[in-house]
Amino acid sequence: MSVTTIRASSWGSLFDCAYKWEWIHILGHRSPSGPRTQLGTAIHASTAAFDSSRINGSNLSAYDTAEMLVHTLRNPDYEVDWRGSDITLAQAEAIGLKLHTMYCNEVSPRYDFVAVELTTKPLEIDCGGGVIVRLTGQLDRGRICKTSQGLGIGDVKSGGASVVKGVAKTKGHAPQIGTYEILYEHTTGEAITAPAHIIGLKTKGTPETGIGEIRGAKQMMVGTEEFPGLIQIGADMLRTGLFPPNPQSFLCSAKYCPRWSSCPYHE
Ligand code: SF4
Repeated sequence: MSVTTIRASSWGSLFDCAYKWEWIHILGHRSPSGPRTQLGTAIHASTAAFDSSRINGSNLSAYDTAEMLVHTLRNPDYEVDWRGSDITLAQAEAIGLKLHTMYCNEVSPRYDFVAVELTTKPLEIDCGGGVIVRLTGQLDRGRICKTSQGLGIGDVKSGGASVVKGVAKTKGHAPQIGTYEILYEHTTGEAITAPAHIIGLKTKGTPETGIGEIRGAKQMMVGTEEFPGLIQIGADMLRTGLFPPNPQSFLCSAKYCPRWSSCPYHE
């Protein structure tokens, strides 16, 4: 039996270009992250601190938790090279603080959170043919929200194009959300019944927030009688060792793909 661990956050890229995914997640070639990734990490840390304090009753202000943003930006866990970037540390700080404040004042109060940064129990699924898929994922960027339709996932996504015309981009996020839903139910025994919300924080151009909705994400992962789930399709790739390339991916470029120089499938 071979057990392959797949983090919730990596499912989307498996179905973007599986050949690239194999390079990173099976063959272990990771590329260093850039300043914009660090900005995203900092925004997630500070907004999570704000939401956590709402849940535990300490009710820290947007101003108090902004410190977390500045600290995370200035003290990365790994080397961040700002020199070749399109953004300076000071600019990143200014954008991050603006988005953090908008989130705390305008977005967070709309939600009744029951958990932030929840550690989930891994779930092993025997997919047959000697392949076991182990789902993992800390809901470190996700929130569990109580709504009139029951519990639902709220996931903060920051990025240059994460909000378009006031609505958060949801495309490509369903596999991660579906995995969160599966892991939350597995960990707590409580059912997720409300649609998921992607909470977008736009880091390029004028800072902007927006919300987008995702329905049926769990079903996409586990499948139905009519169609196989993405977990099964991913397990088939693991079983056969065939990871299809996708030279039409928007991320198929030297800048975004660490397999570019050795991949024979792009032009
Ligand atoms: S170069 Fe393009 S096709 Fe090849 S692995 Fe990267 S994204 Fe996939």
